[in-house]
Amino acid sequence: MNLPHAEVETPVFMPVGTQATVKGMPQHLLEEMDARIILGNTYHLYLRPGVERIRELGGLHKFMSWNRAMLTDSGGFQVFSLNDLRKVSEQGVEFRSHLDGSTHFLSPENSIAAQIHLGADIIMAFDECTEHPATHERARSSMEMTLRWLKRSKDAFEAKKSEVPWTIGSDQFAGKTQSLFGIVQGGMHADLRRESAKRTVDLDFPGYAIGGLSVGESRELTREMIEVVLEHLPKDKPRYVMGVGYPEEIVEYAALGVDMMDCVIPTRAARHGLLLTSEGRMNIKNAKYAGDQNPPDPNCSCWVCRRYTRAYLRHLSMTGEPLGGLLNTAHNLSLPRHNEACTLFY
Ligand SMILES: [Zn+2]
Repeated sequence: MNLPHAEVETPVFMPVGTQATVKGMPQHLLEEMDARIILGNTYHLYLRPGVERIRELGGLHKFMSWNRAMLTDSGGFQVFSLNDLRKVSEQGVEFRSHLDGSTHFLSPENSIAAQIHLGADIIMAFDECTEHPATHERARSSMEMTLRWLKRSKDAFEAKKSEVPWTIGSDQFAGKTQSLFGIVQGGMHADLRRESAKRTVDLDFPGYAIGGLSVGESRELTREMIEVVLEHLPKDKPRYVMGVGYPEEIVEYAALGVDMMDCVIPTRAARHGLLLTSEGRMNIKNAKYAGDQNPPDPNCSCWVCRRYTRAYLRHLSMTGEPLGGLLNTAHNLSLPRHNEACTLFY
């Protein structure tokens, strides 16, 4: 993908930087492990420090000193996770902040405006993430509303896309714009997924995401839905499965033809002492590693595995030292590129 801030090779796993930071990882280390694109979450940034503040500071790239590519979500998924704190209507979603209970409203129009002002290279249409399980009837009406919201997202984008902070007065980015991706929904119903994919492609986006997966369904069903949708998405456009997954899923879905994935698992697991290795998951806090001088993953060539032992990482995790979280995170995020078991990524 040729994005304004970076060229990104696919398939790509995108580390999640919820609050303008990939938790525990300074930007220069992300660069060193060759991360080309990271995620930001519109919902969190909208609440703190506020979209207007970030826009005034020159956009999200400049604010967090990240000069490579970035993708923001629409805020929809986070808002739908609020359950009791939200009210959905045709117009959009009214929700209460998880921080202070204040009331806010998110719609296709103001989600797109917020994402334009944050300035990520790829921004996402505002959709409704259908809950699971959902009846065919419920999943259809949710899918129909998402299709109407995609159209409104696209219209809002076309009207405001020249307001991206980094294009204003900049020669470097002359003629470059953000890319707005559409999102396929349809619950766990193959016929609806198929229809959603076709009608989303009719709306014509530069890339397509598959949303509403990994919401509690079996892994078999996730795979089935991905396969159904991929059949109807153009092969020459990026295809992105949102919120997925474990390393073995990443490899599996990449083999099916998925180009982009993101998930909090590698970073969240790392903070809890869980290492993802070529031999499976390793709880580094386990007593058996107390005297273990081996590298965390002997098949991994990341800088953590080249330098430190299991015994040392265990000690850091047991004592709650911040360095432990950083080293675990660095290894978990390096995995696809540095692990010989993941040959797909070479
Ligand atoms: Zn490693």
